Amino acid sequence: MNSAQKPQLNKLLEIIKVKQNLSEDDKLLIKKAYEFSEKSHSGQKRLSGESYFTHPFQSAISLAKWHLDVPTIVAALLHDIVEDTPATLEEIKKQFGEEIAFLVNGVTKLGKLKYRKINADESEKIKNLSENLRKMILAISEDLRVVFIKLADRLHNMRTLSAIPVAKQKRIALETSEIYAPLAYRLGMQNMAGELDDLAFPFIHPQEYRWLTENIKEKYDRRVAYLEKVKPVILEELKKNSIIPVVVDSRAKRISSLYKKLFRYNMNLDQIYDLVALRIIVNTIEECYAVLGIIHYLWPPVPGRIKDYIALPKPNGYRSLHTSVFCIDNKITEFQIRTKTMHEEAEFGIAAHWAYNQAKATKEFLDKKVSCADKIELKWVQQLRNWQQEFTDSQEFIKSLKVDFFKDRVFAITPKGEVIDLPAGSIPVDFAYQIHTQIGEQCVGAKVNGKIVPLDYQIQSGDVIEILTQKNKKSSESWLKSVKTSFARRRIKAAIRKDSKILRPPQTELRVVVNDRVGLIKDISAAISRSHINITNINLIKTSGLPVIKIACDIGDKEKAEKLLVKIKNIKGVREVSYKLISL
Ligand code: MN
Repeated sequence: MNSAQKPQLNKLLEIIKVKQNLSEDDKLLIKKAYEFSEKSHSGQKRLSGESYFTHPFQSAISLAKWHLDVPTIVAALLHDIVEDTPATLEEIKKQFGEEIAFLVNGVTKLGKLKYRKINADESEKIKNLSENLRKMILAISEDLRVVFIKLADRLHNMRTLSAIPVAKQKRIALETSEIYAPLAYRLGMQNMAGELDDLAFPFIHPQEYRWLTENIKEKYDRRVAYLEKVKPVILEELKKNSIIPVVVDSRAKRISSLYKKLFRYNMNLDQIYDLVALRIIVNTIEECYAVLGIIHYLWPPVPGRIKDYIALPKPNGYRSLHTSVFCIDNKITEFQIRTKTMHEEAEFGIAAHWAYNQAKATKEFLDKKVSCADKIELKWVQQLRNWQQEFTDSQEFIKSLKVDFFKDRVFAITPKGEVIDLPAGSIPVDFAYQIHTQIGEQCVGAKVNGKIVPLDYQIQSGDVIEILTQKNKKSSESWLKSVKTSFARRRIKAAIRKDSKILRPPQTELRVVVNDRVGLIKDISAAISRSHINITNINLIKTSGLPVIKIACDIGDKEKAEKLLVKIKNIKGVREVSYKLISL
């Protein structure tokens, strides 16, 4: 393939080739997508003034770096075409096939979701809503590769955020820090999550950002210079123990997490020991522990600061050993030790699977035990992990990236942007009751994505639903046929019961044991009528003994019932009478 005129395309291919063997067909497909996208977006500009094509191209570069497969990279090149150019999804399907069209369509669907900060006072509520939104993103995506494309898309948008209007910056930055960064984190992409947070931070907390950058520079430079003194000492000792590390480098604490930590320490920078940590990457787990031992031999550890995330990984799968020691000149210094595999996992998370073709490495990843701090919040991460464990080799895993663990849930959105999590098959009535019982009761209609729908419409994930209400409207019994949530069902039943109590006076059931004779029932009912009591039901029950007449009538109080009882007792043929008040 002659791509000499396209250095950019070559760059993309080079990155992919680091981990994957590309067939000639793959190369042609990527080239075709590259050219199709460049042509479709030609003439369009980003707000930064760059040609629009840089955006899908940079997204594809990220995905190539995360070692995602060819269809994902191709879909990234095409991801904004349906939304922003005259080309259609049909055309993509025709040119690039079902799989790529499916991925592009998934990204387009996600693009329609907008994060609106709702007016919630409690941070707990915001947390739940954000979690629901993250679940919804996964549910709508149906395939994790769609999520990865979205993350790559968001990463590039965040890197170029300063070019867009200020009013929009904050909304996008908030959405990034509350939805996408945690989503990346959950998928195990620790680094990417941190980068998104750092990119969002100056837009969310501009003053704090200024303060930090002004106050940290000198301290940071001194730390890096100091660690340059530590590095040869540790390297020398490792060599004596015949450990050759893959990398030893210093790693600055991310500004967003530094801010969170400083906040807890009254903004006192002297309290932060891990402003810059020394990171040691080795080949095996045994070496990790050996390095830890060597560090503690050289310098005494700070009590309580040793963290073994290898034995006990973080809920998102992060593994590493952390320790802080009283290092040269007695300065508290943090070390992070991990294997190359663990390092790649922290970088690429679940996507790291694409990188491994060796069954062994994959197995190591799948077998590890995950401790779960917050079981409820992290349930879906566990589901994701359990589901991964069903696959023994990475090829099979790639083929099965369908996100189907939310197949029994749908996520719908209120006009204010609140995400409502419902069982699949739910109808707008369920949605209405979930928002508020009163809204459920007064519900007369619903608009889904701006269009009126019947009340038994089956909600799809991502639907924006507006409930139309009418004052004094009552729950309808017919809803019981189609509602899915037991909450709505219970409320509707309760409302019907309440209504019937208002309409119908309290009931009493009379039980009359008789020696049956012609006209007896008539005589009894005549006696009741003379007392101006309404009979609502009457039944003659033949038993093995004497027949029993059961009469339901509108009597609400004991006194009235007792009086009636006396009258009935005096009727010829009546042997025994009893009554009970029945509540409906
Ligand atoms: Mn985009």
